[in-house]
This record gives sequence, structure tokens and C-alpha cells, in this order.
Amino acid sequence: MTSVPSNQSIHVSRRTLPRGEAILHDPALNKGTAFTEAERDALGIRGLLPPRVFTIEEQLVRVMANFHGKTTALEKYIFLMALHDRNETLYYRTLMDNLDEMMPIVYTPTVGEACKKFAHIWRRPRGMFISSADRGRVKEVLRNWPDDVRTIVVTDGERILGLGDLGASGMGIPIGKLSLYTACAGVHPTHCLPITIDVGTDNEEIRNDPVYVGLRQKRIRGEEYDALIDEFVTAVQELFPRALLQFEDFGNQNAFRLLHRYRGKICSFNDDIQGTASVALAGVYSALRLTGGALTEQRIVFLGAGEAGVGIADLIVSAMVDAGLSADDARHHIFFVDSKGLVVKSRKDLQEHKLPYAHDIPFTPDLASAVAAVKPTILVGVSGQPQAFTQPIVEAMAKHNARPVIFALSNPTSKAECTATQAYEWTKGACVFASGSPFDTVEYAGKQYTPGQGNNAYIFPGVGLGVIAAGATRVTDDMFAAAARTLAGLVTQDRLDVGCIYPPLSSMRETSLAIALAVAKIAFATGLASVPEPGDIETLIRSHMYEPVYQSYVR
Ligand code: NAD
Repeated sequence: MTSVPSNQSIHVSRRTLPRGEAILHDPALNKGTAFTEAERDALGIRGLLPPRVFTIEEQLVRVMANFHGKTTALEKYIFLMALHDRNETLYYRTLMDNLDEMMPIVYTPTVGEACKKFAHIWRRPRGMFISSADRGRVKEVLRNWPDDVRTIVVTDGERILGLGDLGASGMGIPIGKLSLYTACAGVHPTHCLPITIDVGTDNEEIRNDPVYVGLRQKRIRGEEYDALIDEFVTAVQELFPRALLQFEDFGNQNAFRLLHRYRGKICSFNDDIQGTASVALAGVYSALRLTGGALTEQRIVFLGAGEAGVGIADLIVSAMVDAGLSADDARHHIFFVDSKGLVVKSRKDLQEHKLPYAHDIPFTPDLASAVAAVKPTILVGVSGQPQAFTQPIVEAMAKHNARPVIFALSNPTSKAECTATQAYEWTKGACVFASGSPFDTVEYAGKQYTPGQGNNAYIFPGVGLGVIAAGATRVTDDMFAAAARTLAGLVTQDRLDVGCIYPPLSSMRETSLAIALAVAKIAFATGLASVPEPGDIETLIRSHMYEPVYQSYVR
């Protein structure tokens, strides 16, 4: 190995390699104690590090010991963010090698707590903030980002998980989601850009917090809001024409509108609507392998008629249409209960996105009466209402079905409609259960049950990877339907035997690869790809997958 003369800089991917102390403070390039002897000489850092040279595996031992030494989930989150800020390669290696343990920290449920405390645990900036004060110069602001962007996750902070309006403190969500793009699917970190559009917050407590980092104003809405979003989307298209734009955690009065306004114009999707739909449909397909029924025979009741509920319902309808029903017939298999009761035709207070599911049936005022009337085979909680699946409701599900399917998807854990233990106990172990946030294995009557986590991270990283690899110009519902079928197809019988309807997180990279392959094939087949179709699509996708290994800086 020859060392680089100390006055010579070499180019590493997109940047000129900095020397001396500067490289130790560049998280994309820093290796910490893993800089080799030759690199220490070549880069002018001898003496700036302790003498022992570590391998990344040895560094991981230290990282995990420190991680386990933290006593709260939030401290673990802060520790990981600090590692991310110091040494990106080691951060992603830590995540990828320990996804089961890391996922609940970098994402739900801990990320929810981190967002609530965002202003208080603020250390260093990550991603970009565009505020309503930037109207007229959004493009200029976005130009400050140095990298070639392929994936943007953007939020306006209005509906963070099930926690509501957190304003600029919602930034933890795009940061967390993009970490998962890299950890789960290998999307290169330098291609990822988290963005928060700060239009103010209607959360008075946050606004009055003396250390809040966002604009201390009420949310702008209406034309002013739309004009800002439009300026932002136009600027993204001009500056990052190859980027996939993922809308995340917008309030539902904006989420549906923005999705419909932009999905046909740019490469974009809404994860709360479409990603959730895909992971839930995959869960339904897997659950049916346990319950034995056909999709077109199911009656499904949703508690919560927002982005997640309507998104899931729409994708289930299209899957039922694929299975031979008309769209209208398919919709009659689906029922919504919102905060006012069963969504029915006679109600005059329904928002537009609920109307397709407003059936001509008698009104009932709550979930218990709706379950009694509809006798659903599948019950899905996407209401953000903790403990809304009460014991009598869950018992009624078990009375009507030999194996009731119960998905308590509200996040974080504190918002789940029921816990895994409750679901198994109240159905005497008969239910097929999945949740939004993770629950531990439950032992009931001498049998172990492993609840599945209907985590969107099974879907969006793979979809994103497929879109990026194929250079897809749009993200379509067919891609999400294919992702659901692929994901369900990866669940092995031994997982099903313990009641788990999703593959293990430890195989996430292979899961994402399979989903990316399905998505890219659709892009190529439907003329949405912008790169030439290769003979081997899988090899193309693998070539886009980042590996967290240290590059050698000396030749
Ligand atoms: P949303 O704000 O769009 O919708 C929430 C819905 O719940 C609204 O229709 C609201 O009217 C309804 N609701 C509120 N109180 C109710 C009550 N007492 N009874 C019945 N309905 C009530 O939010 P969303 O994006 O649909 O998300 C809802 C929940 O689902 C959140 O907790 C979110 O974290 C969770 N979620 C989970 C996943 C997942 O597990 N993969 C994905 C997305 C969303």
C-alpha cells in the first residue's frame, strides 16, 4: 500500500478528501480509531488519535457496550444520533447489524419521544428546514444543500405519529425514516435529504416553550400554505430532478390533497397513506394463510378514517378488484368507524375521503355497536386512541370468528388500540395480531406468540430503492400492491406457526431487495423507468446498495 503524499488530496466519491483534524470532523469520511497507520501519515492525523488501530468490528463492540450502558430509550437515541454525527459508516453498520434492537430507537416508538423533546435534545443540525419566512426564495435555500439528492422525506410536522402537531420538532421523523432507507435498503446516505417545512404550529405548549427551535407562530393555511408547498415542490424538481419525494406525517386535510395534486406530476408518494396500505395489505395476505379465508370473503372494520385507514382500505379494494370483485362490491366489504361512530350514508358530517365508504346501512354510534352489527373478520385500529379495542370488543371478535384478525396499528406504543398480551388473552390465543409499534413475545397458556409489527419500514425503503435504481419517474399504486404481495410471500411457515405475519427484521436487506426488484420490474414494464432496462435487474439494484464499510484512503 502506498501512502498519499501529505500535500496531495485525493478524491473520494463526491468530495475532495480533507486532511488533518478536518477529516476527523467529517462524519461521512471519519473512521475514528479505525484510520490505518498509512492513512494517519498520509492525512496528517498521526497524534490526533490514540495509537491503537481498531477494526470496525472492534469499534462496534465499544458502540454496543455504550449503547447498552444507557438506561433509557431516549438516551440510547441521543447516543446513536451523536454517533451519526461523528461517524456515519459506523452508525449504519451499528444499525444494520442490530436492526431488531435499533429500529425501536431510531424509529417508533422512541422517535416519538425524541420529537416531543426535539428542542431540548438539540445538538447539531441535520437535513434542511424551509420555513414560511422563506417564501420567494425556497430554491435559493435548497441550493445550500451540497449533495446529489435521490430521496427526500419531507414533513410539515402537523401529525407526528399519533402525537399530533409538533411543528418543527417533527424533524426527527424525516431523519429517522431516511436512516431506515439506508439501514434497511442500502440507499446511499449522501443521497438522502430530510426536510421539515416549518409553517408554524397550532400546538400552544410547543410554541410557548422557550427553547422551541421553530417559528413561534400559528400554522399558515389555505392559499399561503399551498403556494409555499408548490414553490418547494417546483424547486425540488429543478434542483434534484432525480429525487423521490416522500410526504410524511402531514395532517390529513393536507395529506390527501397533496398526494393527489403531485402524484401524477412528480415522483412522489405519501408513506402514511400508501406505505401503510402496503404493509397492512401484506399483513392481511399473511393472516389469511393462518385463518384460511379468501380476501374477497373478508369484512373489515377500521377504527379511524384518516390517512392510514383510507389508504389501507383503498389498496385492499384494488386487491379485491384484482381478485375479481367490482370496486363497488369491494368497498362494501369495508366499514369505517370514526370519532362520531359508523361511517354511513345518512351522515352529513363526512370529509370527502370517507365518502366512498359511507354505506347505506343503519348508523351505530361506536366501535362496539359497529362490531356487533358488521361482525367483521378483521379489525384494524388506526385511530391513535389507546385502549379503544376493549375487552368486550375483542371478545366479540373471537365470538364471531375462529381466528379473528386484530391489527392495533396506532403509534407509538402508548397509542396502541390494545396490547399484544390483551389481544391474545382476550381471544384465548386465537387471534392473529399485529401492531404498529413493537411488542415483545407473549406467553399464553404455555404457548409462545410473536406479534408481528406492521412497520412501514418493510415497504418504503425497498420501494424507494426500486424507484431509484430504475430511475422511475412516478410511484404507482401497482408498485405498492406488488410490494405487499412480495412481502407476504417472504413470510415463512415457521414465522406463521408462532403467529408472526411479517419476516424477521434481521432479513430486512433481502426483503427490501425483493421489493425493489418487484417495483423496478413494474417501472420497466410500464415505461416509467428512465434508465435502460438491464439484462439482470437484480444486479442493477444491488449496485445501488450501500455497504457500511470503510473505504481505503491511501492507495
Ligand atoms: P389521521 O389523523 O389521518 O387519522 C386518524 C383518524 O382517527 C381520524 O379519522 C380521526 O377522526 C380518527 N379518530 C380520532 N379519534 C377517534 C375516536 N375516538 N374513535 C374513532 N376514530 C377516531 O392519522 P393516520 O395517519 O391515519 O394515523 C392514525 C394512527 O395510525 C396513528 O397513531 C399512526 O401512528 C398510526 N399509523 C400506523 C402505521 C403502521 O403501523 N404501519 C402507519 C401509519 C399510521
